[in-house]
Amino acid sequence: MRNIIQFYFAFLLLFNCGKLEPNPDDNHQDVKSGESTTQKANDFAIVIHGGAGTILKKNMTSEKEAEYKAKLEEAIRMGHTILKNGGSSLDAVEKTINIMEDSPLFNAGKGAVFTNAGTNELDASIMDGKTLNSGASAGTKTVKNPINLARRIMDDSPHVMMAGDGADSYAKEQGLEIVSPEYFFTEGRLKSLERAKDREKVELDHNDQKAAFYDADIKDSKYGTVGCVALDKHGNLAAGTSTGGMTNKRFGRVGDTPIIGAGTYANNATCAVSGTGWGEYFIRGTVAHDISAMMEYKGSTLEEASVEVIQKKLTNLGGTGGIIAVDKNGNMMMEFNTAGMYRATMNDKDELNIEIYSKKE
Ligand code: ASP
Repeated sequence: MRNIIQFYFAFLLLFNCGKLEPNPDDNHQDVKSGESTTQKANDFAIVIHGGAGTILKKNMTSEKEAEYKAKLEEAIRMGHTILKNGGSSLDAVEKTINIMEDSPLFNAGKGAVFTNAGTNELDASIMDGKTLNSGASAGTKTVKNPINLARRIMDDSPHVMMAGDGADSYAKEQGLEIVSPEYFFTEGRLKSLERAKDREKVELDHNDQKAAFYDADIKDSKYGTVGCVALDKHGNLAAGTSTGGMTNKRFGRVGDTPIIGAGTYANNATCAVSGTGWGEYFIRGTVAHDISAMMEYKGSTLEEASVEVIQKKLTNLGGTGGIIAVDKNGNMMMEFNTAGMYRATMNDKDELNIEIYSKKE
């Protein structure tokens, strides 16, 4: 009798547990494994951008165009050599971005744009696809190469992101190269700020609600952020992005560039992505992570995911800009909804491709 009672209670217990425990199969649909069906395209590969925007051939001199192309080539060759020699994608990304940060041509490092307060506040981030470790810095004013600070935060601190004075002082403590804020002064960027402020006045006079915190002459201008994504011979992906933000942004404003998942993302299971464009929309749309997530959860190819997120999601939100990406098989993508994007790719056959304007033009 005692055995029968014990068995009865054990049965009740099991039955109730079964009822109380949520059954994961009850409330979601099957998800694909995310294994990309594409073949290995390259053992290693690198893609860079120098910003997207309304970059039109008719507004460009052939000298300027040659200058941009030469700098893009110098930058991508740096990372490509590292990858070819068996180096890591993280090193390739960092060193490639350094070259663009040191050039006044791009809105990153030396060529950073001005805030509404006449200051330069720089943002950067880097991500390791192998470990998902990442580092980011926001609003620094004295760090010559913010991508190096992002890397240092990732490698040597317990944090992912540091901002403002704390980030500047951490960089100094770590022995990174520090410059005076005047280092970032360039005549061209000051003119852009003046134009932006003039336009702001006009917009206020007309009681237009739209604040001209972004580059006033977006028509003749571009965003100019720099980014790099790479796949190394060991199968590791990395992504990095560095920027001065947007001309006439309110001081203290932080864009998508240092936000992991918005402007930068890397995951060895899927792809590495770096974005450029109107940062507020990239943050709202979690653009970089969305591309990876489509591959991971939906089994999309890199191309399908990039087109969907840029041409549909970002565009429908009202955002402008683009991304560069490389997947775990070495497939490369450059997708944007603006008239142009400074960009280049290089594969494991040493084939170099540099472009500026949209092919639709
Ligand atoms: N995405 C950057 C920002 O909003 C700007 C850019 O890409 O040039 O700060």
